Amino acid sequence: MSEKLTAKEYAEKLLYTPEYAADKQADVKEKAAAFAEGYKKFMDSAKTEREAAVVSEQMLLAAGYKAFEPKKAYAPGEKVYFIQENKAVVAATIGQKPYEEGFRLVIAHIDCPRLDLRPNPLYESDHMSYFRTHYYGGVRKYQWATIPLAIHGVFTRADGSSVNFAIGEDENDPVFCITDLLPHLGAEQNERKLSEGIKGEELNVLIGSDTVEEEDVKEAVKLNTLILLNQKYGITERDFTRAEIEVVPAAKARDVGFDRSMIGAYGHDDRVCAYAELKAILDIEAAPEKTCVCILADKEETGSDGVSGMQSSAFECFMEELCDSQNVPLRRCFANSFCLSADVTAAFDPNFPEVSEKRNDAKLNYGMGICKFTGARGKSGTSDASAEVVAYLRKLFADNGVVWQMSELGKVDQGGGGTIAKYMANRNIDTIDAGVPVMSMHAPFEVVAKFDCFMTYLGVLAAYKA
Ligand code: MN
Ligand code: MN
Repeated sequence: MSEKLTAKEYAEKLLYTPEYAADKQADVKEKAAAFAEGYKKFMDSAKTEREAAVVSEQMLLAAGYKAFEPKKAYAPGEKVYFIQENKAVVAATIGQKPYEEGFRLVIAHIDCPRLDLRPNPLYESDHMSYFRTHYYGGVRKYQWATIPLAIHGVFTRADGSSVNFAIGEDENDPVFCITDLLPHLGAEQNERKLSEGIKGEELNVLIGSDTVEEEDVKEAVKLNTLILLNQKYGITERDFTRAEIEVVPAAKARDVGFDRSMIGAYGHDDRVCAYAELKAILDIEAAPEKTCVCILADKEETGSDGVSGMQSSAFECFMEELCDSQNVPLRRCFANSFCLSADVTAAFDPNFPEVSEKRNDAKLNYGMGICKFTGARGKSGTSDASAEVVAYLRKLFADNGVVWQMSELGKVDQGGGGTIAKYMANRNIDTIDAGVPVMSMHAPFEVVAKFDCFMTYLGVLAAYKA
């Protein structure tokens, strides 16, 4: 029966080569560009996890989501949400099927690498005032010097009231920075390893140089800075110990390239997936088949611990309370659930091909990157989705016009990493990682392709509607 094929025919039939996909679909490009406009706005108003939670809540409220009431039985199509400790977001759209048949979960994280202020940050040195910082997450420290920085955060006062603030984002605001040596005096510093180009203890943010008028005061610049802060926010030096203040790049999200095909911004990891997830759950029109849950977690960059991290029982507490209203054991619901862990993946960088595995790494404009497994050094700490789960997702994407690619994090033994996928998989939920490929991940200015952002949105939407 088998007919003899030519080599060319065999090649077409048998071989697989991932394809650059962005140029294949003309109207998708326009849709991707429109989607990117909304995303850039989101990014400019969500520079910290707290701000991302506030903006997400506004979007949810505008779409008719109501604050979750634990004992209440919800009907299909009802929309609920809750904010965990001001830093994480959970939203659910109730499905038609009973909870026993499982949820459709999509999880992302809204915390990003940055510089946090220490509890006693303010000091003066040689007539300049500074903030001392403790970096948060995987930061390449040298990247944070000599760029404009903004300061965002919250002070809680002795009376229990709190004040949120952000300085450095408005065009008329001042900005801040970490200084570096001039090349003329940098010879010795040049001999340092790149990881110590700027050391952790050198990440001190310059915040002032003016003094109070009376000359006889000790540390007059520091005092002057504090007087200004007191006038504006009513705080004293002591109040820094009751604060959470983050130093982030002051730049706004911008189109990148003459063709505007990419977006550069601080915090794509993982707000690019968080936004796609939020947009997708808001765009589910009728009551979905299964209950859709959107989780935007905090503390991924430091291991997902704590009350607002993915390991917190706050998230399953919410789902358990939902399940209780239908007398369904949470474990039963989890066993029948599916979770898409939407986190960014490292994109191949033609500038640094030596760390990549070109056959397996994600590329910009090749679509949403599915990551079957994570981990490092022999997949240690991996969450490895089964072949069946990959097959399920591939079919889902094929049925919904989602352009996707497989991805892995660079060469074996070059490095590695993990996501929050394992914390769901450990709860007996079938989970797989997929998300937007990013260049310069964790840098103050990361780059993604608009096409991939839009495909990730379509991918999440498909997962919700399945
Ligand atoms: Mn991430
Ligand atoms: Mn990260």
